[in-house]
Amino acid sequence: MAIQEKGSISIHTENIFPIIKKFLYSDNEIFLRELVSNAVDATQKIKRLASLGQYKGELEDTTVEVSLNEEQKTLTISDKGIGMTAEEIKKYINQIAFSGATEFVEKFKDAKDANELIGKFGLGFYSAFMVADQVEIQTLSYQDDALPARWICDGSTEFEITQGSRTIRGTDIILHINKESEEFLDKHRIQQILDKYARFLPIPIKFGTKTESVEDGKDDEGKPKYKSIEADNIINNTNPIWTKAPADLKDEDYLGFYKELYPFTDDPLFWIHLNVDYPFNLTGILYFPQVKNDVDFQRNKIKLFSRQVFITEEVKDIVPEFLMLLHGVIDSPDIPLNVSRSFLQADSNVKKINNYITKKVADKLFDLFKKDRKAYEDKWQDIGLFVKYGMISEEKFYDKAKEFALLENTKNEHFTIEEYNEKIKENQTDKDDNLIILYTNDVLKQDSFIQSANKKDYDVLVFNSIIDNHFINQLEQKLEKTQLKRVDADIVDKLILKEEAPAHILTEDQVKSVKEVFEKAIQKGTMHVEVESLGPDDAPVHVTMDEFMRRMKDMAQLGGGMSFYGSMPDNYKVAVNGNHPLISRIIHTENAEEKTQLAKQAYDLALLSQGLLTGPELTDFVNRSYKMI
Ligand code: ADP
Repeated sequence: MAIQEKGSISIHTENIFPIIKKFLYSDNEIFLRELVSNAVDATQKIKRLASLGQYKGELEDTTVEVSLNEEQKTLTISDKGIGMTAEEIKKYINQIAFSGATEFVEKFKDAKDANELIGKFGLGFYSAFMVADQVEIQTLSYQDDALPARWICDGSTEFEITQGSRTIRGTDIILHINKESEEFLDKHRIQQILDKYARFLPIPIKFGTKTESVEDGKDDEGKPKYKSIEADNIINNTNPIWTKAPADLKDEDYLGFYKELYPFTDDPLFWIHLNVDYPFNLTGILYFPQVKNDVDFQRNKIKLFSRQVFITEEVKDIVPEFLMLLHGVIDSPDIPLNVSRSFLQADSNVKKINNYITKKVADKLFDLFKKDRKAYEDKWQDIGLFVKYGMISEEKFYDKAKEFALLENTKNEHFTIEEYNEKIKENQTDKDDNLIILYTNDVLKQDSFIQSANKKDYDVLVFNSIIDNHFINQLEQKLEKTQLKRVDADIVDKLILKEEAPAHILTEDQVKSVKEVFEKAIQKGTMHVEVESLGPDDAPVHVTMDEFMRRMKDMAQLGGGMSFYGSMPDNYKVAVNGNHPLISRIIHTENAEEKTQLAKQAYDLALLSQGLLTGPELTDFVNRSYKMI
């Protein structure tokens, strides 16, 4: 019985294809992903039927083949899958998107990209019309006594089904590429698309041919002769390591796969193999890259797959924000890839996946910390960035990470938050029972302050990464009765106020006159002179900026809505150490000019030691110093 039928595709609109074509133009390359995925699905189905004993024929070679015919301007995707009968074509192809074609037409205006439309309305096959003005199917079903069928459609709603010519089980999809889409007749372009989407598909995909040199007997002198033969060009790795059991993998496998994904990148620090099948299905490998303090982070380096089909590198919402800097792959058929962003955020699976990844990462870090603390500390520079970011942005992560987040001091020692608390609480609790944590963001510039603190046996932490400002705020919020102060925020005795006020050797009149001498020497409204009593070994002058003021200004600079503070000039305190011998000398110097010179010199030296002396003032200072010696 010959098949011969004409008809029209059952959708309730005149012509859907011009819409598809025009609207989806921007990412039209995904037609190939859709068609190759269909071919892979059909192949997997026949293999499953065979393994269940429901298909008794030979499977033979099931490689999917993509081929170009430049003369006829066709691109063909061939599989040896289950094929279709004419009835099945009518059911699956003609009644396009019967779940919601009308809806489709109504909604197409709101859709943002091709993925969204295709997924939502099951238009995978029809995406072919984005690039072809005629699509032909030649297919033979695996079923006994099935007849080959041919379907052809020119992109209108009219189609034709006739008897086909295929003699082997499976399907050919033949696209007659349209004028505007001739790029898809270029083999490099096709290769590029396949590399992107089909690289890890589970069924071998062959594209084009490549020539290989093989030995072909010997020549007269007994040297081997060679000839060129055509070799299959399988373009994909059908068993990527994320689909394997972690127990079957070695470090080399993970490192090798990393190199395969990111050829020119340094080895990762470590990785996490994700593997869960309930309540959602997800596999993948997340790598922690070496980032150091590089500001130039590379986001969107995680590839998202659905059953080994590449979907996107935009994993926002699926991967917690703070892990966006990780590399690797995630594969899940349960992520609704094709719906809009807002839907994704509300999706309960996505939330669960997000939580799962957060938990896995936290567990892995805690594991590394417990197993080999030394190695963990060595990597802290890199890991710290993720951990701190996570602690700031996710409450749940903070609760876990407080056990393995490290604080590093100026002596390169590392402590957990609790260990540090134990270490300093005796000596660094002030008279109001507040624990004062001192830190520096610049070990070299703030050296004089660090030394003053160390003289009192105070410890100083180093917070110098871009994230530390926020991390400091977070710690203050989380830790009870604890304040963090930058070591140059005040003179050391004022940073941690103790009960006993330090002894003052100057009289009230002397204090007044010292203040006047310095004010006269400095002559700057933004420098506020105060006479303090520090140890005689401490520097004669310190220039400090109040912790609160500085933080507000930092925030204003980062665009934190503190513009009021941003527009204020830098106000500093000039703390003169009344107990220093130099100050006594100034008091006892008769000559007014000499008094001013000494004060100016001491003040400039303080600025110099903090890297604050620049420009004409620095030149002035140098010239004055030459004169003095
Ligand atoms: P989806 O793949 O999302 O179901 P498609 O529009 O891509 O939507 O395909 C519709 C149906 O057509 C498929 O579900 C399948 O039954 C059938 N089909 C498409 N391509 C093939 C093929 N290469 N071999 C066998 N059946 C196919």
